[in-house]
Amino acid sequence: MSRIYNFSAGPAVMPEPVLERAQAELLDWHGSGMSVMEMSHRGKEFMSIAAQAEADLRELLTVPDNYKVLFMQGGAHAQFSMIPMNLLRGNKRADYVNTGSWSKKAVAEAKRYCDAQVVASSQDSGFTRIPAFAGWTRHDDAAYLHYTPNETIGGVEFHWIPDTGDVPLVADMSSTILSRPIDVSRFGLIYAGAQKNVGPAGLTLVIVREDLIGETLPGTPTVFDYKVHADNGSMYNTPPTYAWYLAGLVFQWLQTQGGLAAMAQVNKRKADKLYAAIDASGFYRNPVEPASRSWMNVPFVLPDAELDDAFLTQAREAGLVGLKGHRSVGGMRASIYNAMPESGVDALVGFMAEFERRFG
Ligand code: PMP
Repeated sequence: MSRIYNFSAGPAVMPEPVLERAQAELLDWHGSGMSVMEMSHRGKEFMSIAAQAEADLRELLTVPDNYKVLFMQGGAHAQFSMIPMNLLRGNKRADYVNTGSWSKKAVAEAKRYCDAQVVASSQDSGFTRIPAFAGWTRHDDAAYLHYTPNETIGGVEFHWIPDTGDVPLVADMSSTILSRPIDVSRFGLIYAGAQKNVGPAGLTLVIVREDLIGETLPGTPTVFDYKVHADNGSMYNTPPTYAWYLAGLVFQWLQTQGGLAAMAQVNKRKADKLYAAIDASGFYRNPVEPASRSWMNVPFVLPDAELDDAFLTQAREAGLVGLKGHRSVGGMRASIYNAMPESGVDALVGFMAEFERRFG
């Protein structure tokens, strides 16, 4: 067996000890005589797996008691509509911050339900920075303010939390959740597709302040009502049981790594190393201003797009895959989530230097 370094943006690399444990437990989970994927979601075995995963996630993120943690499906895309459906609560207006591709998608979907206004944007800079908070034209009567703390495609990240006062803050943390400690109490709602830093695709995490749920837009499907999921322990319908179990194993792995404060240190070190190599090269270039650079997704371009194919082919030969940038922007992108070991970043930096020597 040979594992390679997988820099894919998602689905993405999983921690190897998690895969090994899943493999060991695949046929017979803890003497139950069956695989987790064969269990009834309402049986005591799966209920214990589900409860442990939630407890571990709550501990990792220090989730306050007045927040519900939901294990859902539909990806972040479903959340783009569920958020207005659930959080407008009779209001017609919601504020959105536009820092790139994923923000834009969230805005477009919200516009189907409300007056979704872009109150800050970095479009004029080509999405290479976070718009300075002083210039945001927020509304005090907005139902919520939505932003994307980490833009997975552009590699632009907030390293601060906007202060929206009484307006609930809603965050698409798909590609940054669990990369560092966060103060959950600053948010009204946090959501994340699992397939980057949490586990396999198919699971979506939602952490929501309980006073914000229970009043949906008329016509909202029952299965899109957070309160219904909260009241049923995320088992109103059949949840993605195996993905939930694997996410639980990831949470336990994070605990063995020292929790999110320890992850933050490693993540920052990994990102610093890669950006330093890019900046020092004079060959590779990352367009994002240093204060807004993502710890998780590092896009970079070569001096000539003609070299892209050679870079990707030779990287693959060196055991480094998933480096092609998003089809909408081209170039390269290295996603270096929690599960990417520092040795993977070292290998990438080494390969990049070698490639530059040959082609620079
Ligand atoms: N938001 C962000 C920040 C993302 O990175 C992604 C996936 N790349 C999405 C939303 C969409 O997620 P999904 O495909 O799970 O709907």
